[in-house]
Amino acid sequence: MSDAVAEAEQLVAEATGASDGTSDGPKFTLELNQDQKDIKEWVHGFAEGVVRPAAEEWDEREETPWPVIQEAAKIGLYSFEALGQFWADETGLTLPIANEELFWGDAGIGMAIMGTSLAVAAIFGQGTPEQMGEWIPQCFGSAEEPKVAAFCSSEPDAGSDVSAIRTTAKYDEAKDEWVLNGQKAWATNGGIADVHVVIATVDRELGSRGHAAFVIPPGTKGCEQGAKVKKHGLRASHTADVHLDDCRVPGACLLGGKEKLDERLARAREGKRSKSQAAMQTFEASRPTVGAQALGIARAAYEYALDYAKERQQFGKAIVENQAIAFTLADMKMEIDAARLLVWRAAWMGRSGHGFENAEGSMSKLKAGEVAVWATERAIQILGGNGYTREFPVERMHRDAKIYTIFEGTSEIQRLVISRAISGVHIK
Ligand SMILES: Cc1cc2nc3c(=O)[nH]c(=O)nc-3n(C[C@H](O)[C@H](O)[C@H](O)COP(=O)(O)OP(=O)(O)OC[C@H]3O[C@@H](n4cnc5c(N)ncnc54)[C@H](O)[C@@H]3O)c2cc1C
Repeated sequence: MSDAVAEAEQLVAEATGASDGTSDGPKFTLELNQDQKDIKEWVHGFAEGVVRPAAEEWDEREETPWPVIQEAAKIGLYSFEALGQFWADETGLTLPIANEELFWGDAGIGMAIMGTSLAVAAIFGQGTPEQMGEWIPQCFGSAEEPKVAAFCSSEPDAGSDVSAIRTTAKYDEAKDEWVLNGQKAWATNGGIADVHVVIATVDRELGSRGHAAFVIPPGTKGCEQGAKVKKHGLRASHTADVHLDDCRVPGACLLGGKEKLDERLARAREGKRSKSQAAMQTFEASRPTVGAQALGIARAAYEYALDYAKERQQFGKAIVENQAIAFTLADMKMEIDAARLLVWRAAWMGRSGHGFENAEGSMSKLKAGEVAVWATERAIQILGGNGYTREFPVERMHRDAKIYTIFEGTSEIQRLVISRAISGVHIK
């Protein structure tokens, strides 16, 4: 061996850590670690054994599947400890992995279980350590008696345009209480939740910079469920209006505390940039997770369609033997995998403190939501007439998938966020 070759081999060995075994190993890997694999298997087992068999029933009943939530609570999957464990993974991947598996089981039930996490994310993102300690466990209740929580931002006239929120919060200094008035729309778990987190305006002139988030403790007078929404999909998840009528909460229910709010408002009034706005902060942190839910639906539909295509015979052969079907399945698999890479990238960026300079969180949710709608529609096509009936699950999956281009920012709003981020231009 020449000296040059030996030197090159030595360099490669050093770079790969093969020389003396002291390297930390490769920095980039898509291989899941043992904890991630264990959690994936655990959630998958629950999704397969408990969620899937219950999916059709609760979709038809259009009711919150409390017995399934109880099962999830019993095994510790529905608990703040589990969410904390998923969140604690420094790579950021465990939360999307768990969501994908659960929603692979069923999205309506998945949302009944995971809907609470939006309120938890708001408390976690904006609350003080004391507020987190007090309210996050109450969002879940106990294993014997699980509870759910709701995050209420949207209003009849404030959907995509969060700055149009009209619900007001006025401070009653004498009593150190906040008084909330207004109507919230479309709240997941709205009215059936123990803990509601409500976004309200404390200064309308400041638009979304005048918003603040409040915890409404269980049983607070003046916080009532309005009309329950009858939906196209995700029907096992409860969605309703919430009315706030002179709803008084202690001063301590303002997330982050009054001092911080006053500072933020003063900065906004001086025209200074604020680091965050209450509702937007919650959405930004949760987008890759929401994308992962859409992925779970898309993967379930793809797997079902693949099995069906191998079984179903027409013209004397399995329909998968036709390129039209096989290529569609190939595209479905490729699109789902591509979406997952965007979701994992955004989850990793979010967890490791990388700024979303190009709105990578929005990209992940946009791509996964659109793939889910497309892939579930293709799955119906592959199943033919059977795909269009309620006897086969892809019809439900398609109905469930559609919400992923609407909530947590519509596809148009995600494109707006991305185009503004990449161009620096205030695209309208
Ligand atoms: C099942 C379900 C659960 C939900 N859960 C919650 C919840 O838990 N908490 C909560 O606060 N909210 C929740 N929502 C509300 C959801 O976030 C809103 O529906 C969503 O933000 C869109 O708002 P909108 O429905 O008012 O649509 P609109 O804002 O009225 O939009 C209508 C259409 O106009 C487009 N559009 C609007 N503005 C622009 C623009 N500038 N450029 C281009 N296109 C634009 C939109 O993309 C959309 O296609 C839920 C909704 C549903 C259906």
